[in-house]
Amino acid sequence: MKRILVTGGAGFIGSHLCERLIAQGHEVLCVDNFYTGTRRNVAHLLEDQNFELMRHDVTFPLFVEIDEIYNLACPASPIHYQFDPVQTTKTSVHGAINMLGLAKRRRAKIFQASTSEVYGDPTEHPQTEEYWGNVNPIGFRSCYDEGKRCAETLFFDYHRQHRLRIKVARIFNTYGPRMHPNDGRVVSNFVVQALKGQAITLYGDGQQTRSFCYVDDLVEGFLRLMATGDEVTGPINLGNPGEFTMKQLAEVVVELTGSKSKIEFRPLPPDDPRQRQPDISKAKAILDWQPTVHLEEGIRRTIAYFDELLASGEA
Ligand code: NAD
Ligand code: UDP
Ligand code: UDP
Repeated sequence: MKRILVTGGAGFIGSHLCERLIAQGHEVLCVDNFYTGTRRNVAHLLEDQNFELMRHDVTFPLFVEIDEIYNLACPASPIHYQFDPVQTTKTSVHGAINMLGLAKRRRAKIFQASTSEVYGDPTEHPQTEEYWGNVNPIGFRSCYDEGKRCAETLFFDYHRQHRLRIKVARIFNTYGPRMHPNDGRVVSNFVVQALKGQAITLYGDGQQTRSFCYVDDLVEGFLRLMATGDEVTGPINLGNPGEFTMKQLAEVVVELTGSKSKIEFRPLPPDDPRQRQPDISKAKAILDWQPTVHLEEGIRRTIAYFDELLASGEA
């Protein structure tokens, strides 16, 4: 049994991670400032004596006694991370420095939730970990992309300079229960629209593709990466290479909800990538990991979550 710190633990992915760690018998300290996460996401864990919830902003130092750290604190959807872009960069950069300082003092293993956005608007497809990316340093997305890139730099410098044990995962689009209902992302938008009987807003011709990973598969990848030997630092891509068009996604959501919603075409936002797909050869080879939850099954579970959320009047 270990004492494990999860920053951003009251968020979408973090809450699933806390749940898995508790189920494995660990003590979990969940640290969150509730910027995009909620107490509701971890309400079912509060009764567990191995679970502790602490309101704290990771841009400030944190002195706690733990054995492992999963650093997930950072708003993830464009609407949220662009709302206060300076705070977004501070969270990624100052947050990483504080958590690395904590890991250094405790000699703790530390995991970083990085992102496919470090590849920017990629000129290579699919993206392997060797690709250095194509990122605009001064655009609207830069607070997130460059913040996460700088965090990766800090992780590797603490590793080289202070021999810290690091695990850097580059996460691709992920979906599932406890996604934020108003974060503007395609899965939450389509499911909420279908359940409310509103028009499904399909941008462009709907032929653009994405590859979405179900959250349980992703968390399994986190645990396997954390369990690797000290020589494994990453960065390592975690995502689902199964590619489908947004039109197909809209049709699956309409079918599985039994909704009468019609698909409405809207203009494609600027710089919308035609395609995004992870190359997960490394994760397969090193972690013996690949996603197992099919789109339909994952969407079914996501629908069940939003159905309950809407019925409770909280969204
Ligand atoms: P989320 O917004 O649901 O979770 C982020 C959590 O961090 C929230 O609970 C939020 O309140 C908390 N937080 C934000 N700033 C904080 C601060 N300064 N101090 C303490 N807590 C803070 O997002 P998510 O989708 O669960 O993402 C979790 C992590 O995974 C993020 O680091 C994100 O960048 C990364 N990621 C997610 C995706 C995805 O598809 N969801 C893809 C790539 C990377
Ligand atoms: N830090 C922290 N908790 C700890 C140890 C350090 O929050 O348990 C913070 C500390 O405040 C510092 C940062 O982590 O700002 C980086 O720590 P490090 O030891 O690398 O740097 P230094 O303290 O030498 O600047
Ligand atoms: N999209 C859409 N309707 C929506 C929201 C998004 O058709 O209501 C499209 C969007 O244009 C993009 C894809 O779905 O092509 C994925 O969008 P999302 O914002 O979820 O993720 P990202 O573009 O960052 O991969």
